[in-house]
Amino acid sequence: MAVTVKSEREIELMREAGRRLEIVHAEMGEFIRPGVSTMDVNRHGEKIIRKLGCVPNFLNYNGFPAAICVSVNEEVVHGIPHDDHILEEGDIVSLDAGLIYKGYHSDAARTHAVGKISTELQQLIDVTKQSFFEGIKQAKAGNHLFDISAAIDDYVTPYGYGIVQDLVGHGIGTHLHEDPQVPNFRQKRRGIRLVAGMTLAVEPMINLGTWRVKWLEDKWTVVTEDRKPSAHYENTILVTDGDPEILSLTL
Ligand code: MG
Repeated sequence: MAVTVKSEREIELMREAGRRLEIVHAEMGEFIRPGVSTMDVNRHGEKIIRKLGCVPNFLNYNGFPAAICVSVNEEVVHGIPHDDHILEEGDIVSLDAGLIYKGYHSDAARTHAVGKISTELQQLIDVTKQSFFEGIKQAKAGNHLFDISAAIDDYVTPYGYGIVQDLVGHGIGTHLHEDPQVPNFRQKRRGIRLVAGMTLAVEPMINLGTWRVKWLEDKWTVVTEDRKPSAHYENTILVTDGDPEILSLTL
């Protein structure tokens, strides 16, 4: 699939999709507390998505059985919600959510603390989030795609964290996953030249320990190989001639 450049009309629809997804994340964030199940979080998120007149794009995507990916502690991404998985004080939980508004997709992820967490885990969450912002400083027309990857890597690596390599960010638009792929670690080449109107989901997945991950037997849940915790932060962005516009983070 070729990398697409969105028209002004398409960009406006993606802005609307992003604004709605931002609301979903804000409301899910307030819902997180010890004692709720990961399925409760999924149900809450799906209800908000539908209330906003949108469709959850993860539900049934390649067979994924829920609207929200709810990944706890050593689960990196694609955690399947369960009624008997109860969030506990001290956990961290990554919520990856996406929706379709009038045919256009938005995709974003946040990692939340459940109650009071260790300073070690809070730093992992903070560095993961900041690495997104460091990365997208490079997301401007005329720069190259993998300048984003290198900036994320340069920011994260001094902390000694592991950057997940098996999963990467992506283009987004009329499809959830479009070209190009957006790695979160340094590449040998600089990649394609960025053009105003490209829309990307930039999503560093950062592990407290090893970068290595594996898939559980449910075929979805990705966990760290050493079972140490992992954090995730993602937004859908628009490349412009200046600073990128973060479509799923405007408030
Ligand atoms: Mg994504």
